[in-house]
Amino acid sequence: MPPSASIPSGMPAPVTLRSLFELLGGRMDEGLQAGRSAVRAKPSAGHVALVGAGPGDPELLTLRAARLIGQARVLVVDHLVSDGVLELARPGAELIYVGKESGHHTLPQEEINALLVRLGREGRLVVRLKGGDPYIFGRGGEEVEALIEAGISFEVVPGITAACGASAYAGIPLTHRDHARSVVFATGHRRAGQDALDWSVLARPQQTAVIYMGVGQLAAHCASLIDHGRGAATPAALVENATSPRQRVVTGTLETLPAIAAQAGIRPPALLIVGEVVSLAGRLQPFPAQPAEAVLAD
Ligand code: SAH
Repeated sequence: MPPSASIPSGMPAPVTLRSLFELLGGRMDEGLQAGRSAVRAKPSAGHVALVGAGPGDPELLTLRAARLIGQARVLVVDHLVSDGVLELARPGAELIYVGKESGHHTLPQEEINALLVRLGREGRLVVRLKGGDPYIFGRGGEEVEALIEAGISFEVVPGITAACGASAYAGIPLTHRDHARSVVFATGHRRAGQDALDWSVLARPQQTAVIYMGVGQLAAHCASLIDHGRGAATPAALVENATSPRQRVVTGTLETLPAIAAQAGIRPPALLIVGEVVSLAGRLQPFPAQPAEAVLAD
């Protein structure tokens, strides 16, 4: 379309997420076909899509994610997937919750893998819905390996990872020419017997560190960063329930944040963001809350 052309009128208005993917629904089979031919494993009758559900706001789904969620016969769902996302499921779809929370997994990973293989063999379209992006601290790699081993057709649909959602909705750019030339994502959750994080890498200057699953050990993480050379006055934030209507942001420094977070009662899911970019949080706070809607109401 040339830059000056306008969108033809006649689109149903308002264009909601649901109407949009219903509009695209006709191309579902075509899309699935493309997904199938892209896999090397011997295709079975069914198909498992690992779908990134994003951090909460359902409007942050990709179009492909929304379309697959609306078409799936069965959805295997993690606890971090928001209700707004699940509302897109077709009436009568089977929802299986395998929710995982640090410490109390409702279903061990091996059983989730086996469940996906079994459902895939039943010849249905299965959507494995994971919070954020399936390949960022989501164990998507393990599930895909199980599907490949079993010869099940699969695809992976990326989602907006919590760090990107939190960054945009809290006004904290993860990189910035003046403050951070690199960004590193790490998990604060440690498997029993696993090595500790390489704090000297996370504590590098001119870098933003985003720590997932870091609320439980917040004070220890902040102390480790200081011990490895990050200044105690380095700005740090926690973003709780990012992109949802319940989002809360608390900011401080590596030294003060643990007490501020305890006072505010911040709980998972929350992300720890450390680096000079956090100092922009107040200034870049999106305003008003729903600018597009405010303009469209005219
Ligand atoms: N695959 C997910 C991450 C799963 S690990 C992704 O790409 O986002 C779970 C951790 O992600 C939580 O403990 C929390 O640290 C973070 N997280 C997920 N959703 C979040 C949200 N809406 N707000 C803040 N943190 C979130």
